[in-house]
Amino acid sequence: METNISQRLLDVADFIPQGVKLLDVGSDHGYLPIYLLQAGLISSAIAGEVVQGPYQSALANVAEAGLDKQIQVRLADGLEALEPSDGVTTLAICGMGGRLIADILAAGEDKLSGLERLVLQPNNREDDVRAWLSDHGFRIKAEKVMSEKGKFYEIIVAQPGQEILNDFQQRFGPRHLEVKSPGFMAKWQRELGKLEGALSKIPQDNQGDRQALEQRIQAIKEAIKDEG
Ligand code: SAM
Repeated sequence: METNISQRLLDVADFIPQGVKLLDVGSDHGYLPIYLLQAGLISSAIAGEVVQGPYQSALANVAEAGLDKQIQVRLADGLEALEPSDGVTTLAICGMGGRLIADILAAGEDKLSGLERLVLQPNNREDDVRAWLSDHGFRIKAEKVMSEKGKFYEIIVAQPGQEILNDFQQRFGPRHLEVKSPGFMAKWQRELGKLEGALSKIPQDNQGDRQALEQRIQAIKEAIKDEG
């Protein structure tokens, strides 16, 4: 079976170190671990899924790919899929809201100590993920913005370490602010255009709403300004 993996998950796969044992939380169809195993990029994986339907779908896909020995599919809530003896060093949580990813990390915090890398792909509220990492002894190693089918997705790669992020860094991403990649610029230029359009429709006498929006616009301009 050839895995029909999205560009979003292919970009996530780029951040999974070679040869590791992976836990993929919220694995749904199992595509990420199946792809990584078929490509010979990891040694083995656990695919964790909390909902019956996606769990069955991951089980079926893993069996069809002939990877039952390398990928264990577990019906579990978040990091409850992980046993201390598993030897997992890399965790992926992808394709969910940032608030949910932060909640999963918080609920499973006692299981995070053996992990060397977290690869997180929130669909929104990236600031919630960064705030949790900053408050709980993780440092952001790399960040990427990619786009697929007209939507921007962020990938946040973290490792144990100390890095206290302020609100601005939590919103825009500390590594993004250092590099300002084309993907990062495109995401925030589009958001800036939307907010400027919205501002033009707010009557001048509605100063409260105008000021709130102007502050958000100013923050984006600050984040994307060319410091070269
Ligand atoms: N990770 C895949 C991807 O990025 O394409 C699937 C994303 S899918 C939108 C999110 C999956 O996470 C769903 O199958 C959902 O059931 C699962 N999920 C949500 N909360 C979870 C939790 N606490 N533990 C395990 N799985 C969870």
